[in-house]
Amino acid sequence: MLRINDIIDKAQIYLPPEDLEMIQKAYIYSASVHQGQVRLSGEPYLTHPMEVAGILTNMKMDAATIISGLLHDTIEDTLTTVEHIENEFGKDVAFLVGGLTKLSRISFGSQEERQSENFRKMILAMSADIRILLVRLADRIHNMRTLQYHPKDKRIYIARETIDIYAPLANRLGINSMRMELEDLSFQYIAPEAYQELSAKIAKSDEARNRYTEEVKRIIYTELEKYSIKCKVEGRAKHLYSIYKKMREQHINFDEVYDLIAFRVILDSDQEKSCYEVLSMVHALWKPVPGRFKDYIAMPKANYYQSLHTTVIGPYGERVEIQIRTKKMHEWAEKGIAAHWRYKEGLVDYKNSEENQIKKLREIMEIQNEVKDPKEFMTNLKLALFPEEVYVFTPDGDVKSFPKGATPIDFAYSIHTDVGNQCIGAKVNKSIVPLKYKLQNGETVEIITQAGHHPSKDWLKNAVTTRAISKIRNWINLEEKKNSLVLGRDLLDKEFKRQNLKFSSYVKSGEIQKVFSDCSVNTLDELISQVGLGRISARRIVNSFLAGEPVSIPEPIIDKIKKRRAASQSMGVSLVGLDDMDDVLLNFARCCNPIPGDEISGYISRGRGIIVHTNNCPYIKKMDKERIVGVHWNVREENTYPVHIKIICDDIKGVLTEVSSVISSFDINISYAQIETIDMVANCNFIIDINTLNQLNQVLAAIRQLKFVKSIERLRHF
Ligand code: MN
Repeated sequence: MLRINDIIDKAQIYLPPEDLEMIQKAYIYSASVHQGQVRLSGEPYLTHPMEVAGILTNMKMDAATIISGLLHDTIEDTLTTVEHIENEFGKDVAFLVGGLTKLSRISFGSQEERQSENFRKMILAMSADIRILLVRLADRIHNMRTLQYHPKDKRIYIARETIDIYAPLANRLGINSMRMELEDLSFQYIAPEAYQELSAKIAKSDEARNRYTEEVKRIIYTELEKYSIKCKVEGRAKHLYSIYKKMREQHINFDEVYDLIAFRVILDSDQEKSCYEVLSMVHALWKPVPGRFKDYIAMPKANYYQSLHTTVIGPYGERVEIQIRTKKMHEWAEKGIAAHWRYKEGLVDYKNSEENQIKKLREIMEIQNEVKDPKEFMTNLKLALFPEEVYVFTPDGDVKSFPKGATPIDFAYSIHTDVGNQCIGAKVNKSIVPLKYKLQNGETVEIITQAGHHPSKDWLKNAVTTRAISKIRNWINLEEKKNSLVLGRDLLDKEFKRQNLKFSSYVKSGEIQKVFSDCSVNTLDELISQVGLGRISARRIVNSFLAGEPVSIPEPIIDKIKKRRAASQSMGVSLVGLDDMDDVLLNFARCCNPIPGDEISGYISRGRGIIVHTNNCPYIKKMDKERIVGVHWNVREENTYPVHIKIICDDIKGVLTEVSSVISSFDINISYAQIETIDMVANCNFIIDINTLNQLNQVLAAIRQLKFVKSIERLRHF
């Protein structure tokens, strides 16, 4: 069992006495709160935090990290609180221990889920400080070393979790030594037979291999000494899991794995160019295998790993893998971010956490300058320091990632549009939160829905994902459209009814389509919804049937009326108080078609002069009162006004002649006559030039006398 003195002994090499005192204090604290607790192995619980602290000391971590290792399970497993730790050990330690506690509360879902990038990202995001992650990895290493005390199914589960999450994380951070240990420890539980077989084979060839290793090393040393290059040569069997992976991936058996041993030349020099020099010497010594040279110095791995790799045909015609690197590169290769941490350590004051962040940022900037394409590593480091995403769980344990600031609304829409639309609230870690609640890393989110519930515009303020925002907008637009259709139809029905028309018959006959282009719409629904949204007035549509192209009157008649009007020089109408109307543009309204005798008013139009309406015209009643002016008739004998009359009568021979002769008897000109017969009924349309209302009434009365006439009326278009 590791003792505190072992830790202090190692730490005193690089830490000041006051740090050692704090470590001692943390040890006593941890011992007292964990007192009486026992591990599955039967050992006192304290052995675990001690081992974790020991691993961190071997990595030469700072005091706060080692202390956090000693205290990492105190909040979860004892009555200790973060506040208490802060009082005893300061903010920095409390922050790390608090972060570790949060991380330990995460439980992982299915294997598939665990293998997803999201999980690793989540852990990175939750490790607001890289040291949290390092303690977590040390914790996992010790748990893996003592995994045999767990029941079998638990062992496999934990081993899988380790290989799926923690080994890749260690790799991501460049901590190769941790990655290899985690992989090999997991390997023996995940595939025990393969592990046994492989380790037996390696052990069997142990002695021969040692001899061989020594021989290769000696050749390299001798060669490099010629050039007085100072270095250390290592020859080590590759870790089992990497051999196992290679055999599986390349479908080869053990005997076919040539490079069981990797040789490393670690140069005393810090010069990159020395590595290339050594490479050329090695290649001069043994023939390189084509395509096996990798320059990780010029092109570092995503985790900042740097080295030259080459495979050569060795002294016995076998393949030998040789890695060449400087001391500094080697340190990074073994310890990754932990090594980097330590380089800067002398300068860092961890007590100031803000400065700490700046410090780390600066380090990252430095790495960025040194490394050409370290995108992945940087992205993740950045994520760890300044998390821009939050990772939360579904009730089933799946992880979902969202941009920072995401709310349950975003979460709901990420599940399904219907879940989003019907979302009325959410539970976060089992307690109800409002929809505007901002999700935090590691929380479990459950959406509460209610059938028939729907989104509101307010939601747009709380949603941050484009998916949620577009779905909410969609819904609102659809809803507005639905409402506008109902409202639009209602408005149109009423407006048509006011004119004694039926909107539905215009729809049925298809005549409504005549206004489409005028209203810039393509479909009936569009037209109706435009009316509902208030963009087109219902009246305008009705008007276009009344005044524009009256449906019930054949087109030529309207043209005639227009022509007659244009021909008439004097309109016979004066403005009140203004008899000389020569300069005033005057028009008769086509809706009511006034003739002398009708009571009239003028409407000052925009661009069409004064439009004269009858006072009983429904349109003028609705027009802007400010624009209505008094007008009066100022008729001369010779003035005539076209009037459209419509006669319905029996379909007998000579109808047109008889009616015409009656009209002519009043010395009235007929400018248009037309007859149309449907089902034994004749519809006659006449345009006659009338002088006064009185004259019109006389002629209408006379026609009404004809026995075959069923009805006669002066047609007006309102
Ligand atoms: Mn632990």
